[in-house]
Amino acid sequence: MDTSAKRSGLPQALVLAVGSVAIASADLEGAVRRVVADLCNADPVNGTWLVFEGQSMDWLIQNGKVLVSDEFDSARRHGHGDLPNLFRQAERLKAERNLVIHGQWYPECSYPHPEDAALMCTPHSADTYAQAGPVCHVEGSRYRKWSLEQAWAVSEIEELADRLDQLANRFCSIYNLPDIP
Ligand SMILES: [Zn+2]
Repeated sequence: MDTSAKRSGLPQALVLAVGSVAIASADLEGAVRRVVADLCNADPVNGTWLVFEGQSMDWLIQNGKVLVSDEFDSARRHGHGDLPNLFRQAERLKAERNLVIHGQWYPECSYPHPEDAALMCTPHSADTYAQAGPVCHVEGSRYRKWSLEQAWAVSEIEELADRLDQLANRFCSIYNLPDIP
């Protein structure tokens, strides 16, 4: 199928896994949007919901965190005590998602000499190289900082997609919204 994957020599499994992260991430963003809009009593009928459309995941998470913080205490008032924890998890997963989706992927490490690789390319986890299946390398550009390279096992990318899905469903369950299939 995918000629760009063939051109770059990337495994098809990587392409599928990155696609799964993109899909799961969009589902999480939709769930977070619904929860944050609800915390603000936004209503699709009177149009106030529109304020939350098109806002970035980061905007939604940062505002959600404030809304459920002790300062506002809406979580306690509404009995949604787990929300601060869920927003923190969303923030962590968003950073990993950004690297996986927006980073530039390579089938091999950009630093072939082990001494360079040890300094310039970090494994995603202590188990990255112990995972079954291929390991690929991703370079993430950072604002006003040098780019960083990380090694990820494809199975770790698939696991990230699963964690994004699970978190989306936990946000949905707070409001008894239907699970994202
Ligand atoms: Zn590398």
